[in-house]
Amino acid sequence: MEAKPGKKERLLGIQTRVSWTFFLFIVLMVALLWLLQIQLLDQFYRYEKRRTLQNVSASIAGNIDNTDLNTLIERVAEDNSLCVLVVDKSMETVYSADTAFSCIIHHLNHRDLRRMAQKLETDGKDFVLFPMQRVRNSGFDRQRFAFPVPLPMNDEGGEYLVSVQRATLEDGSEYYVLLNTLVTPVTSTVQTIRSELWVLTTALLLIGFLLSSILSRKISRPIIRTTEAAHALSQGEYTPISDANAYREIAQLNRQLTQAARDLRKVEETQRELIANISHDLRTPLTLIEGYVEAMRDIPGENTPENLQVILDETHRLTTLVNAVLDYSRSQNAAPEENSRRFSLTASIREILTRYGKLTEQDGYVIRFEQQGEAYIQADPLKISQVVYNLINNALTYTGDDKTVTITQTIRDGHVRISVTDTGEGIEPEELPYIWNRYYRGKKPHKRAAVGTGLGLNIARGILDGYGMDYGAESTVGKGSTFWFEMETAGDE
Ligand code: ADP
Repeated sequence: MEAKPGKKERLLGIQTRVSWTFFLFIVLMVALLWLLQIQLLDQFYRYEKRRTLQNVSASIAGNIDNTDLNTLIERVAEDNSLCVLVVDKSMETVYSADTAFSCIIHHLNHRDLRRMAQKLETDGKDFVLFPMQRVRNSGFDRQRFAFPVPLPMNDEGGEYLVSVQRATLEDGSEYYVLLNTLVTPVTSTVQTIRSELWVLTTALLLIGFLLSSILSRKISRPIIRTTEAAHALSQGEYTPISDANAYREIAQLNRQLTQAARDLRKVEETQRELIANISHDLRTPLTLIEGYVEAMRDIPGENTPENLQVILDETHRLTTLVNAVLDYSRSQNAAPEENSRRFSLTASIREILTRYGKLTEQDGYVIRFEQQGEAYIQADPLKISQVVYNLINNALTYTGDDKTVTITQTIRDGHVRISVTDTGEGIEPEELPYIWNRYYRGKKPHKRAAVGTGLGLNIARGILDGYGMDYGAESTVGKGSTFWFEMETAGDE
């Protein structure tokens, strides 16, 4: 049993797979967005704050001798919402900017400032960060800062970052740059982002779902179309597959399939042709045998050894033909030379004519053979005799009331030409090019052509083409036709 195209299989279809992959990709993206926005936002924010403190601190320390330092300090304080305090060795304020609200450093006493500066010494660094937790209504963490810090106006619990940096002046004296910033709790921001993310997530999932189904359909359609065409092909329908919207690979596959379809059709046609040719070839000897046997049965004295010989010869011909059919698979690949040998074409025609002998005698036909010399050719005698038979049969069928057919053999320039001439009604010039085509039968019905198949000349053409021979037909309407073929002779005697 072959699988129908629509039949459910356990394997996932390309459309499902593509749409799922795309959809999963969207889900992954959304998950990543949530993770970054919700989970890591706080850490990013803190990291950014630390970096700002560090950069601003370094910049102030680097410009400590600058006469414009005050302007610089005020600008960075404003731009970054920072509190800046620059103190000398004895913790006296040199510069100060308390633009930001809740400036802790401005509320620290000298002792605490000194302790912070000392941290630089103990850590052996130029820059130290102090995270500070302020507890609602109770001032700063007493564990770290054993002093009451007067609380500024806003009394919310919160986290602060304080930094201390050592700055050395040109004269060698040391200042301390203190900065502090409020680490705003990101909870409210996260809340906003979260509700925004929900909207985004829903929109993304919807768009993702829509896009994935549209995309997957678009991607899989050419493949499905090709599959259907291949299925139709297996059913014997040779519809060419359109390459519109296909990808390069699918277009290539389509071309291969179309080629395969063409080849298949050719094989089928060859088979049909073969059967038609064989039946046609079998009919000629059978008709002869039938005629002879009937004559022997009905006419006294016809039961002669000669007549029996003709029947025997025709039977032999039949056997040879049947054998040829049986050998078909072998002979199909074989070149036309396979069974070719040198033989006398003249003798072969003479032999064929003796077979027609009885027929001509009985029905008043006259077959004349005009020949000069003996022509030898190199070919398969059976195939050449098939050509001769077909031409004579036609001439006998279509010849005029004088029932005369003339076969002429001329040898010239190493070529022998056999012409079969009748005195019939001839062939219309516009019909002449088509008579060699398969199944072509003349438009005018002929009284003796009742059993015509339109194959005889086509078989002859196939054989003559196989040998690369010249051949043709000339005809004058009302006067008769001449069919001829010509080939190289294979030397005398
Ligand atoms: P068939 O004779 O079986 O019809 P052929 O292939 O031998 O098929 O011939 C094809 C057609 O060519 C014939 O139907 C006939 O019209 C035309 N034809 C062939 N030979 C002759 C001829 N000698 N005189 C007139 N017409 C001919």
